[in-house]
Amino acid sequence: MALDVNWALDWLKLSAQAMAEHRVELIELDRAIGDSDHGENMDRGFQAVLQKLDETPPESPGAALKATAMALMSKVGGAAGPLYGTAYLRAATSLGDAATVDSEALAAALEAARDGVVARGKAELGDKTMIDAWTPAVEAARKAASDGADPVGVLEAAAEAAETGAAATDPLIARKGRASYLGERSAGHRDPGAASTALLLRAAAAAAAGSAGDAGTDAV
Ligand SMILES: [Mg+2]
Repeated sequence: MALDVNWALDWLKLSAQAMAEHRVELIELDRAIGDSDHGENMDRGFQAVLQKLDETPPESPGAALKATAMALMSKVGGAAGPLYGTAYLRAATSLGDAATVDSEALAAALEAARDGVVARGKAELGDKTMIDAWTPAVEAARKAASDGADPVGVLEAAAEAAETGAAATDPLIARKGRASYLGERSAGHRDPGAASTALLLRAAAAAAAGSAGDAGTDAV
């Protein structure tokens, strides 16, 4: 089973839903250690993504992610717009214009996205940033793909690792971004970017599980 453009579209729809549903929670997390804008920015950004996809329906998963990158870069302010814009753009480049995505291509795209965030934000693991969700997710995806997992399994492994990684930012002292100005007072709060990364990867897994379910129904 491979994932196609419908998976990408489902992923982005579920992402927009997740950003709307968790908007207040992300605002509260960012209020604690940042400038309170993350929930608002991500919600607005993904509404713009849906609008763009609606105006110009993409023909491949890579094209859908490229459109997402463009919408986020133009609509999301703060640090998150450029970081997520870079992540989706690198993932899009990694996927190219292939019609479908298998487990290895998926793991490679997640790694390209993570590498883009690192290049752009210059954060390392343990700095209390979205990298603390991305890096465990990439490692879990790589392992799942090399163990022979299907794309649903790869994305579920990535989502679970991202959730664990986001939770692990709670006690950390921030060393990058606005939260680092707070020093020790940043400990005791989850990093909002790590939290949103986990939500977006969970949406990717849910979309893949839904696609697999659809394929099963078609086969009957
Ligand atoms: Mg902020």
